Amino acid sequence: MCYCNPTSTISFIKAVEYGVYEGEILPIDPNFKNKMKVVDQHQGHDVWGPTDPPKKLGVHGTNVSVDWDVCQGDGICLSVCPVQLYDWADSPGHPTSEKKSDPAREKDCIQCLACEVNCPVQAIKITTK
Ligand code: ZN
Repeated sequence: MCYCNPTSTISFIKAVEYGVYEGEILPIDPNFKNKMKVVDQHQGHDVWGPTDPPKKLGVHGTNVSVDWDVCQGDGICLSVCPVQLYDWADSPGHPTSEKKSDPAREKDCIQCLACEVNCPVQAIKITTK
């Protein structure tokens, strides 16, 4: 992680605040669909688990996928998405953040990858065709 980037610094400070820094938060697994199962539906999209709320929330979305156990609620994806497909969702009691970005309109994705590239903790995976 590069601390010269202000975005990374903010995430770093947040992670320390929540006491989860140092190797515990890994980026979303790009092969999660081979390892996880659809266990629930949320706002019209799949939730991949296993989940164990409120501490383990799984991955939301299939084409636009946000790993809620990685997401720190920075909201950068909400501001960079040109088609505004993300909404905020509350996640009270989750160790990394109490709100998550939710791919509520994943079908609107134009696969620009702005969210995936800009996410400071690499919580997002876009499945490109
Ligand atoms: Zn969701």
